[in-house]
Amino acid sequence: MNITQYMETHGHEQLSVFTDNSVGIRAFISIHDTTLGPALGGVRIWPHKTEDDALMDVLRLSRGMTYKAAASGLHMGGGKALIMASSQDKTEAMMRAFGRFVESLGGRYITTEDVGATTQDMEWIAQETNHVTGLPVNLGGSGDPSEMTGYGIYQGMKACAKEIWGNGSLKGRTIAIQGFGKVASYLAGHLIQEDAKLIVTDINQSALDRAGELGLEVIDDPSAIYEVACDIFAPCALGGILNDDTIPRLKCKVVAGSANNQLLDDHHASTLQDQGILYAPDYILNAGGIINISLEMGQPYDEKAATEKVARIYDTIESVIYLAKNEGITTARAADRLAEERITAKRCLS
Ligand code: NAD
Repeated sequence: MNITQYMETHGHEQLSVFTDNSVGIRAFISIHDTTLGPALGGVRIWPHKTEDDALMDVLRLSRGMTYKAAASGLHMGGGKALIMASSQDKTEAMMRAFGRFVESLGGRYITTEDVGATTQDMEWIAQETNHVTGLPVNLGGSGDPSEMTGYGIYQGMKACAKEIWGNGSLKGRTIAIQGFGKVASYLAGHLIQEDAKLIVTDINQSALDRAGELGLEVIDDPSAIYEVACDIFAPCALGGILNDDTIPRLKCKVVAGSANNQLLDDHHASTLQDQGILYAPDYILNAGGIINISLEMGQPYDEKAATEKVARIYDTIESVIYLAKNEGITTARAADRLAEERITAKRCLS
């Protein structure tokens, strides 16, 4: 892999590498773009088989964060960190070493939780640097971001409902949820309150049991979720699940869920559109968590202000739909355009 060529092609600013044998850490931080502010993005702890895999992951994810922050109206850029380890192998010493790595970048990169990391890890990192967010509530932070992510998905779904059915009410709508984890559970709370009908699947029996206890309809075979007749399909588990195999099986009018990178490939946005399905771009819809933690920085965390800001995901989804219709492009492309226009406008001012 020619790293510098990849970075030049995709607009990355910086890639930093860190090792400390004494604590067994090998880590990368990728800063994609700081035009709008310091690069914000979680630290992923994942035992990639090769360094090339790890580098590709961190570079790709950091670019996604630039788009997510820009389209969400945050004064933040995009970054990501990756520790090449299994989350079972992490230690306080390892996380504190990572904190020193973050500190060495002088605030150009701000870290937070991602796959494999917890609020406890953020607490350890915070021993070494102030450039960390997503701290536990008892340390003045906002805690687990899943609740706000779920609330943002709910707001974005309402904007989609307004577009398709003429009003934003989800009362009586059937919503099929793939993956009943943290975000989906918070999302379900809002949907149940609004009297929507939920059909849920998961690969994990305890998640299905929880859904059953809430009185939700449960689908035991996870692959059957694609064929469920519903108004909204909500992917809340994995990426890449909108593809040539699954899209023709969908029987919904809207796809709106929390999973990152739902489209296997860019062209699947057009496939959905051709099938008459409105796709709510994942990184706009699931930005509630990052919007929430961005309000922890440089000020005391204010839950009410955070909730109000996350609710604006409704407006952002409306803008995306408007732009897509006006320009004759997919909603996915419209989301990218919103982000790119904000960055370009800021560059012109500088
Ligand atoms: P989670 O691990 O709590 O929940 C995911 C659930 O999906 C689990 O219950 C898991 O068993 C289930 N699952 C996995 N594979 C499945 C499959 N093939 N079919 C059905 N179910 C399956 O994770 P989460 O925090 O709720 O996040 C859900 C998704 O949203 C992830 O893709 C995550 O990257 C994304 N996301 C989360 C946040 C957040 O604030 N937590 C923010 C942005 C994006």
